[in-house]
Amino acid sequence: MADQEELKQHFAQRVIHQAREVLDVWQQLQRGEWSERHHSALDDATQRLRRFAERFEQPEHSALAIGIEDCLGDIRDNRGRLSSETIATLSQLIYRLARTGLRHNDPLTQPFLPPLSKPVYLALQNDQRADYLMRQLEFFSMSAQAFDSEMAFRAAMHQRHPAAIVMDVDFTGPGAGLRLAEQVQQGLEDKLPILFFSHSETDTPTRLAAVRAGGLEFFTGTLDASTLLEKIEIFTRTAHSEPIRVLIVDDSRAQATHTERVLNNAGIITRMLIEPIQAIGALAEFQPDLIILDMYMPDCMGTELAKVIRQHERYVSVPIIYLSAEDDLDKQLDAMGEGGDDFLTKPIKPSHLIATVRTRAARARSLKARIVRDSLTGLYNHTHSLQLLEDARFQARRDNRPLSFAMLDIDHFKRVNDTYGHPMGDRVIRSLALFLKQRLRKTDHIGRYGGEEFAVVLPDTPVEAACKVLNDIRQRFAELRFPAQPQDLSCTFSCGISELSADTDVKTLTQQADEALYRAKRSGRNRVERF
Ligand code: GH3
Ligand code: MG
Ligand code: MG
Repeated sequence: MADQEELKQHFAQRVIHQAREVLDVWQQLQRGEWSERHHSALDDATQRLRRFAERFEQPEHSALAIGIEDCLGDIRDNRGRLSSETIATLSQLIYRLARTGLRHNDPLTQPFLPPLSKPVYLALQNDQRADYLMRQLEFFSMSAQAFDSEMAFRAAMHQRHPAAIVMDVDFTGPGAGLRLAEQVQQGLEDKLPILFFSHSETDTPTRLAAVRAGGLEFFTGTLDASTLLEKIEIFTRTAHSEPIRVLIVDDSRAQATHTERVLNNAGIITRMLIEPIQAIGALAEFQPDLIILDMYMPDCMGTELAKVIRQHERYVSVPIIYLSAEDDLDKQLDAMGEGGDDFLTKPIKPSHLIATVRTRAARARSLKARIVRDSLTGLYNHTHSLQLLEDARFQARRDNRPLSFAMLDIDHFKRVNDTYGHPMGDRVIRSLALFLKQRLRKTDHIGRYGGEEFAVVLPDTPVEAACKVLNDIRQRFAELRFPAQPQDLSCTFSCGISELSADTDVKTLTQQADEALYRAKRSGRNRVERF
């Protein structure tokens, strides 16, 4: 009996580990280009995942593995090339894989997301800080390893590559961390994500050097665990990064096809337009992150089309890159004045094109996110949450689907501030935000509604299901321990949920959720109530 239990545990571990391996390979593609090496790595990891999933009777995992295997078959049939359809399908499957929990296990010990298969390495000047961060990361089932000497760090690197490195630029001496990171990255085929940290504000040369050493992020001042967690999540988990979408407008089919192939190979989804006249319709339907425009087309100039695009409020901030054989600098500058963001001259090196598209798209996404998001938590702000609720209500009506709306409020939060200080309060808010993000579906919208209040829009979810999900989150959140003085701290929240019915408008929905929340508070807190 005990043996069987052990065996079960063993397979459970293997399934999680293999799921993570699959995610890791996919993540590598976001930084590089698809190659035979990626193909066989993904193939191996997926086959192993399917085997373990079958033995451990995890039908969701094996179905997802089979889906990925099918995609790999499509890629092979397509002579080793990725297509937009395959990228979209793979990305969807891998997203679901990241979100699929195991069935047999104790829900309390089983993290919802498969943990990173590799640890995060922390190379910081301040040992205490490193220790604290390590414990925080472990809360969110990320394993971390801290180092206090270059030798220990190198030894670990030699043994095993981490999921990410957090490196103090002054680790073991002024500027020494930076140089160490540089050396470590050299000769690595797949660069490791590095997040740099500097205790004091630094100069531009240092920041430049950090970028060259593969630094994806640069923190200064105090290194906050929640921010760090969030970034590591983004850089190491695929779940959050939707593939980039690029609209290519070029009258030459050959040129457009070439651009498309180069981008697809980097995991970027494309749509090709030979007729510039159709551009506005395609924009609305395809919702690209970025547009590549041919400069000279018979029906209209790229610059003219750019002007038309910019006249639409919604597309004012979508980056436009001109692609042309034009190498006259004056003309290029003119074109930039006409609503373009960049100018690339044909023939362009594939790696250059990919890098430009990735950087521009990432910047545009982060700018857009900043406008509608709350700065403490990265969640949608109050106004945008309500907008999303309105959109979701519209869709639910149209498709005749259920919709639930939840409001959360942290219990006795004033006491947290009073006893542990405001920064600790902020930390709790951030952790709950991250917790919700980790545990809800991507189709759910999470907003910070007010100070310590959150709102969640759950499309396609009847109120019973919403209660179950939030109740599970409530229980797990209550188990979190925040390291603090004089003693560790734990927090709870109360939650009220309403459901869309035939004649409810957004205002009524929020009022009903609020009423349910009030009832949850009144009847003792730390509970979920439905209207
Ligand atoms: P309960 O909801 O269980 O009835 O009690 P409570 O103590 O949480 O009640 P209340 O809503 O009155 O207090 C919320 C407190 O949250 C008041 C405010 O100082 C604090 N707060 C609001 N926003 C923030 C923030 O961004 N950071 C921190 N640290 N505290 C905040
Ligand atoms: Mg409150
Ligand atoms: Mg409260």
